[in-house]
Amino acid sequence: AIIIGILALQGAFLEHQTALQRLSLNKTIDTILVRTAEDLDRCDALIIPGGESTTIALLARLSGVLEPLKLFVKTKPVWGTCAGAILLSQAVEGAKKGGQELLGAMSITIARNGWGSQIESFEASLQVPGLRDPAVPFTGIFIRAPVILSLTPTPSDHPIVVVAHLSRDLLPSALSSPNHSAEPRTYVAVRQGLHFLTTFHPELTNDDRFHDYFVRECVLSLFVGVS
Ligand code: GLN
Repeated sequence: AIIIGILALQGAFLEHQTALQRLSLNKTIDTILVRTAEDLDRCDALIIPGGESTTIALLARLSGVLEPLKLFVKTKPVWGTCAGAILLSQAVEGAKKGGQELLGAMSITIARNGWGSQIESFEASLQVPGLRDPAVPFTGIFIRAPVILSLTPTPSDHPIVVVAHLSRDLLPSALSSPNHSAEPRTYVAVRQGLHFLTTFHPELTNDDRFHDYFVRECVLSLFVGVS
């Protein structure tokens, strides 16, 4: 089977495992919880869960898995949700100096807790054409979610595909900044090559369509013809 690891240092990792196990694809894929470099070695793909990105990075460093993770993301499919999305990004705006280790796998600049203290958490109905049953909206659960500020791919990078975005009128005005255009702030699920991020938490719903999307689009597509 193809092994999808879930980084299990802190945060909502069990919910991701449960969601993957619910997928009917679970004859093809197996899941393991990843806490060490040895665990990571067994994985064909990885999910980095939501939680607290600084804590996850610190625990990764302490457990010796941070440097292996940086190598892993260079060649393997990885999906980051919320805190995991921050870790996958290239740059974080507003982070304390020296306070944020990143894996930098996606050409994205992101802001932690970008919705501001007045809107800590919210739900939004998303129309996502790339999912199974695209006519059925997906409920995005946003919890102290990051906000994508800009896409920064160079010509040699994989192109970035916007998989889901919020309607513009949901954007808090507090997010207007002279340095960045408004559009990327609406992006809540984006894909670049083998990498995928969602700024919300699909694993906290019973709707497995984003897990299905990651497995099909980012993972299984690599293994076509492999038994
Ligand atoms: N605010 C958290 C961070 O900055 C992310 C929140 C989450 O993962 N739900 O890491």
